Amino acid sequence: MNRVYLLLGSNMGDREQKLESAVEALIEQLLPDYLEVEDLSEAVNTSSVVETAPWGFESDEMFLNQAFMCLTDKSADEVLSICQSIENELGRERREPAFNEKGERIYTSRVIDIDILLFDENVDGRYVPQIINEERLQVPHPRMQERMFVLEPLAEIAKDYMHPSLQKTVGTLKKELKRKK
Ligand code: ATP
Ligand code: MG
Ligand code: MG
Repeated sequence: MNRVYLLLGSNMGDREQKLESAVEALIEQLLPDYLEVEDLSEAVNTSSVVETAPWGFESDEMFLNQAFMCLTDKSADEVLSICQSIENELGRERREPAFNEKGERIYTSRVIDIDILLFDENVDGRYVPQIINEERLQVPHPRMQERMFVLEPLAEIAKDYMHPSLQKTVGTLKKELKRKK
């Protein structure tokens, strides 16, 4: 079984309900029915919901963010497709990413965003963190270490997770970002 860590975000409409629906759909589509675990929290885990200011753009509409972990028999690529189809079902308008004249991404409000933060492949019973660098999918998420709205909820469920390229735990990344601010 593989293991995926996601970040959910919403700053439009009924934000709480969007997060709840996303979690329900993710469990339904990612977690295999046949899975047997002693403790359900080994198979699925969610952080608390945190309210955060928009990142990379100005808006009065605050975000709700939540980190989510789930075991899955899907590949990272399949998980991305599932996340995108759930975003669509929940009313996310998918546009091509826009960039300003400096080449920086222009972000806008969204009813739901589901990003893959970390992905572990199961190799001989051990979780091995994957590094993926394709245009369609980058894992670990390339901006997670700059975002308190990611590290805060993620640290609740994966404080000791070792980031495979930065070689620091999520807890350490959070402490370092806090010091920078
Ligand atoms: P950011 O990734 O900076 O949070 P965003 O979530 O607003 O930005 P989206 O518009 O949701 O960006 O997605 C843009 C593209 O990012 C998607 O088409 C997807 O293929 C790609 N992508 C690359 N890596 C990831 C990842 N780890 N999780 C989700 N999407 C990713
Ligand atoms: Mg995002
Ligand atoms: Mg996204």
